[in-house]
Amino acid sequence: MRGIVTFDENRCKGCGLCVNVCPVHILELDQTKVNAIGYHPSHAFAPEKCIACASCALMCPDVVITVERVDK
Ligand code: SF4
Ligand code: SF4
Repeated sequence: MRGIVTFDENRCKGCGLCVNVCPVHILELDQTKVNAIGYHPSHAFAPEKCIACASCALMCPDVVITVERVDK
């Protein structure tokens, strides 16, 4: 199973919960960006490695993340 992970970037509060929960360690807070509410938003730096576990989306308190499952 592969996943496509997308972020509603301007709602992210930069708490880092999703970064810590991802089992394949592909999420980080993007220190080069500041979003509309003043935080460094989370993003996937190696999105092709997403296994669609959806842990990040479940963990996010602000419903920023959507995970789409893709059958190979
Ligand atoms: S769905 Fe799972 S593997 Fe994909 S980014 Fe989220 S926590 Fe990581
Ligand atoms: S859990 Fe949600 S609010 Fe927190 S860093 Fe991740 S995307 Fe942003």
